[in-house]
Amino acid sequence: MSKLSAMEWSKQVVKQDEIDKYLVNGKDFINKEEIMSKLKNNENPDKSYIRSIMDKALSIHTLTPDETAALINVKDEEIWEELYEVSNNIKRKVYDNRIVFFAPLYCSNLCVNSCKYCGFRKDNSEEKRRVLNMDEIKEETKAIINEGHKRLIVVYGEHPLSDIDYITDTIKAVYSVEKKSPNGKGKGNIRRVNVNAAPMDIKDLRKLKKAGIGTFQVFQETYDRNLYANLHPSGPKSDYRWRLYSLHRAMDAGIDDFAIGALFGLNDWRFEVMGLLYHSLDLERHFGIGPHTISFPRLNFASGSPLSKNSKYKVSDENLKKLITILRLSVPYTGLILTAREQPDLRDDIIKVGCTQMDASSKIGIGAYSQNKDLQEEEKQQFMLGDTRSLDEVIRKLANDGIITSFCTAGYRCGRTGDKIMDMLRDCKEGKFCKLNAVLTYKEYLDDYASPETKEIGKKVLLNEIEAIKSNPFYINSGLIEKVNDYYNRISNGERDLFI
Ligand code: SAM
Ligand code: SF4
Repeated sequence: MSKLSAMEWSKQVVKQDEIDKYLVNGKDFINKEEIMSKLKNNENPDKSYIRSIMDKALSIHTLTPDETAALINVKDEEIWEELYEVSNNIKRKVYDNRIVFFAPLYCSNLCVNSCKYCGFRKDNSEEKRRVLNMDEIKEETKAIINEGHKRLIVVYGEHPLSDIDYITDTIKAVYSVEKKSPNGKGKGNIRRVNVNAAPMDIKDLRKLKKAGIGTFQVFQETYDRNLYANLHPSGPKSDYRWRLYSLHRAMDAGIDDFAIGALFGLNDWRFEVMGLLYHSLDLERHFGIGPHTISFPRLNFASGSPLSKNSKYKVSDENLKKLITILRLSVPYTGLILTAREQPDLRDDIIKVGCTQMDASSKIGIGAYSQNKDLQEEEKQQFMLGDTRSLDEVIRKLANDGIITSFCTAGYRCGRTGDKIMDMLRDCKEGKFCKLNAVLTYKEYLDDYASPETKEIGKKVLLNEIEAIKSNPFYINSGLIEKVNDYYNRISNGERDLFI
């Protein structure tokens, strides 16, 4: 833990040389005028051009800014129906028929920043502040494991009391927990910890890498630098470029699995979609790989934040569906995360336009999983959640729609990260491994945690998947069928955490 005061600590966070090294002729990769002119020049795109863009995206190539701008300008609802279908087809081609699940774990809400949309900002006196100690982190982890989760994303405010040493300690604490499943049949543990934390310098990012994280995630919030300055008046977060290059630094620190996002509702969604594309392209240009996932959280009501209630840029449900579709086509290899900020009905619908990851049973109050239920009250959490269904309920709903849930965490443990996974995603090979791991982890979930209703419908999904594997030449020729059969039987006999 840092011995500096919060004020002194804040002043030494940003390292200018770790921004400047990525600039080209002193400029970053977001040029507002260029984005605005691309949106203007691509108004009224004709159908044949849009269909050629669909073909390009279906061949898993990142779109150009002009092509994305053309999609943003589509008005014809019939073309939109085609785009939704293509979006789903791309998802199936790259990621097959599965949704990966995770849970967020909020570890601390002390923060030196003053983001106008967030309940954790330092000047919000309504917020009760807490930094969980390691015993509390373990209790939270046990409660999450008890739901059946295997993946976490740990979330922190930016503060000397939750600095890099605290963050790495919490990650170790999470990984150390093992717990018998409630029915006593199996045992559970968290096998992948992803991190959503403030931008760091390369030295701290190396420590994060050493702690064995999955993905490092930072949302730019808005790519419009003037608006950014207005929304982030003080603290390290007020430095737009420090945040803009946080994932470039992650790559340089050896974290080759990173995630981007924008907070939709702060600005015109069209501009932010373009910003996300330019961000992906710049990462591809520098490092040859793009983001593992893109997130599109919508602004939710946060305590003491009038902006979170009244923003004139709130994104409608219809536009959310459109922007997800555009992202799916624009960066076809990337994962797309649909969080429990959204309402259940909307999630059930939107998941079909190309999303790959969801959370469920989520609680975002500090200590809320293991402690009082009333920690879900608005004054004690960052913002209000839309979907409070249990993991079991959401898995059952997906199973009814023929979708398999995956708790696969094999990728980073088998070295399938960075350029290796990117190439496999682009060649649509990664989905083939994940299909097997989805079957194995779904089987574990059904055996250990599912309710009788979920088990019943889940078994049908499992059988369909196994049939599809048995008739697929890739699995037959590679000999993977024997291996998956062996693992499946061993899981039936009580072994856990077998992956391919
Ligand atoms: N403090 C770190 C940071 O800001 O990068 C990480 C934690 S912060 C709680 C995680 C994300 O929550 C932010 O990047 C922001 O996009 C999102 N967020 C903040 N306020 C929100 C709100 N009112 N509704 C929805 N999402 C919000
Ligand atoms: Fe702090 Fe992150 Fe909330 Fe901003 S968004 S106030 S940095 S926790």
